[in-house]
Amino acid sequence: TRVDNPYAGAKVYVNPEWSANAAAEPGGSRISNQPTGVWLDRIASINGTGGKMGLRAHLDEALKQKGSGELVVQLVIYDLPGRDCSALASNGELGPTEIDKYKTQYIDPIAAILADPKYASLRLVNTVELDSLPNLVTNVSPRATATPNCDAMKANGNYVKGVGYALNKLGDAPNVYNYVDAGHHGWLGWDDNFKPSIQTIKQAATAEGATLNDVTGFITNTANYSALKEQYFTINDSVNGKSVRESKWVDWNRYVDELSYAQAFRQEAVNQGFPSGVGMLIDTSRNGWGGTARPTGPGAMTDVDTYVNGGRIDRRINTGNWCNQSGAGLGERPKASPAAGIDAYVWIKPPGESDGASSAVPNDEGKGFDRMCDPTYTGNPRNNNNMSGALPNAPLSGHWFSAQFQELMKNAYPAL
Ligand code: BGC
Repeated sequence: TRVDNPYAGAKVYVNPEWSANAAAEPGGSRISNQPTGVWLDRIASINGTGGKMGLRAHLDEALKQKGSGELVVQLVIYDLPGRDCSALASNGELGPTEIDKYKTQYIDPIAAILADPKYASLRLVNTVELDSLPNLVTNVSPRATATPNCDAMKANGNYVKGVGYALNKLGDAPNVYNYVDAGHHGWLGWDDNFKPSIQTIKQAATAEGATLNDVTGFITNTANYSALKEQYFTINDSVNGKSVRESKWVDWNRYVDELSYAQAFRQEAVNQGFPSGVGMLIDTSRNGWGGTARPTGPGAMTDVDTYVNGGRIDRRINTGNWCNQSGAGLGERPKASPAAGIDAYVWIKPPGESDGASSAVPNDEGKGFDRMCDPTYTGNPRNNNNMSGALPNAPLSGHWFSAQFQELMKNAYPAL
């Protein structure tokens, strides 16, 4: 009884908690009725703690919002053992070996709630374990980008097992739609990373009882900042006989933006055996890059670097930068079926929620201090040793960051 695209003809759930935070900000009511992802980022979030809504509370509220039409609820499955192995800001509560706890105390209870007949009329979209599987390709030995934690998660197999288990169990309910994390073009768009990442996802999607039919599609750019469409240059352009792929910014990547990447990712997944109906989601919550710094035309044709840097919409210092990016704006508003192969533009990362603290903050959420969130940091091999580009004074990941919310609204594209 699954439909091809759950977003088609459906409203999408507005998280009352995010909505209240947004509405409390000056100017926030312009977007506080937008749908955003509900992050189940620890075991305690299933029942809700500290006065926050648990999963059932969200689904009960969703039934109210649904009325007589169709409604999609967007959940984020995010609690793998050894979570966020290439960074520190979103390390979670489960250690690298705690796969059994992940299965029995995290996935099983969620799967039981999603399968409750009470919620059978909702279209339940899960975005599954962002920042996990591609790390097993890009951030492991012998690459210069390797981290000990990613090496460990590759060796113990618990990312693959965890994702397989999640897809299998969550996919049991006929109204559940699983989208697996597909990174973003500025991470996986290189030849060394692209096909191997899809192979790794396929491995997970056939592990622990999962089958490729447990996968509705893939989501790109979750909580990232890669531009949807570089309107002033394409991968096929060249200047003085030099391809833009040779520019410092593109650096031999095959893609310059998320739309072209997502469409190619879909095609390659189908080539590798995923069902031909798989669809893509693109997180456009923070990839607008509007405001006064947005280019209004192509760069000068003096040389490839001048051309690309003068025209590019994505104003980051490097596409490897991921934390609280200075200058970013809200992107396309959530929308169903916006382009070929794309099920929807979605706001999975709730705008205004931090990516990580700019300095060490003691906490009981398992979150570390990642210097990619420190504006004075000069980088590491994963961002080609560039400045982090992060905003200052940020709170812990997931916590409300008013200054960022204001900047995202100011630099929204399309403008608010
Ligand atoms: C954090 C989560 C949070 C999510 C959404 C992640 O970076 O680690 O705790 O729920 O962002 O803001």
